Amino acid sequence: MTAQIIDGKAFAAGLRERVGTVAADFEAKAGRKAGLAVVLVGEDPASQVYVRNKGKQTLACGMESFEHKLPADTSEADLLAVVEKLNADPAVDGILVQLPLPSHMNEQKVIAAINPDKDVDGFHVVNVGRLSTGLPGFVPCTPLGCVMLLKDQLGSLSGLDAVVVGRSNIVGKPMAQLLIAESCTVTVAHSRTQDLPEVVRRADIVVAAVGRPEMVKGEWIKPGATVIDVGINRVPGAEEGKTRLVGDVDFASASEVAGAITPVPGGVGPMTIAVLLRNTIVAAHRNAGIALDE
Ligand code: NDP
Repeated sequence: MTAQIIDGKAFAAGLRERVGTVAADFEAKAGRKAGLAVVLVGEDPASQVYVRNKGKQTLACGMESFEHKLPADTSEADLLAVVEKLNADPAVDGILVQLPLPSHMNEQKVIAAINPDKDVDGFHVVNVGRLSTGLPGFVPCTPLGCVMLLKDQLGSLSGLDAVVVGRSNIVGKPMAQLLIAESCTVTVAHSRTQDLPEVVRRADIVVAAVGRPEMVKGEWIKPGATVIDVGINRVPGAEEGKTRLVGDVDFASASEVAGAITPVPGGVGPMTIAVLLRNTIVAAHRNAGIALDE
């Protein structure tokens, strides 16, 4: 292996520590803790794990965690009423509605009901608009975490060729916006892209957010490129009945060619919650009218 491993787990731990320091300072100035409310509808096992981890890490950073667990058959109107209550609650700085929602609910409508200044997930159209026009707002946690890792690894990203594979609203599109803001030349590839290997081969920075296990191969990568693997895919393991996590990049071949690469697990994954906590402490300062050097 020639590539340097980008240690997202260590970076995320450092970020959580910095958030903890800022959260203590906020409490001293505001006379209350910053607060994050997480709303979970139904019993999706993966979502339950995420919500539990978010709650634990919020408390560990010295912030208040409010969990609202609603049954799967909750009506959309009742969920909207919970969101309204949280919007009005001065102890709540950030609101996160865990996705996916049950199919009888309209996710866009629910996200639109969140006060944009408490939308720490950055999914509200107002925050999407702020990101694309360069106004301060909230940026989705996973792509913001990717940019933090990239800047830590490379310093300035200005002028670099970046290819983002995937165009979802939660990863691919905001990732592309962030890279444009860093003055990269950005290409967004997707399932209709022609000759994807050739497109990826141009890139100094490759961000893979596809949801297809080990799709991006080493021979697609320009030697020395920096590879950020957002994918989290569970595949059958070597032992019968066991599973393992792999990314959207074929780590074995890509790490022979890339200059630096994020592993799965331990790369982008741990950044998401750490950035959520960072967004929450930023929201707390803005909502309380307390200045913060970001
Ligand atoms: P989506 O399924 O919403 O989007 C996948 C994107 O990949 C789409 O734009 C799709 O194109 C594109 N795509 C699919 N197949 C191909 C292909 N064969 N060639 C080129 N492009 C393709 O996924 P998400 O963005 O939500 O997530 C992507 C991955 O990141 C998943 O593995 C997910 O688990 C992971 N993830 C990890 C997070 C974390 O680390 N905390 C957080 C969020 C996601 P098209 O639009 O044309 O259909």
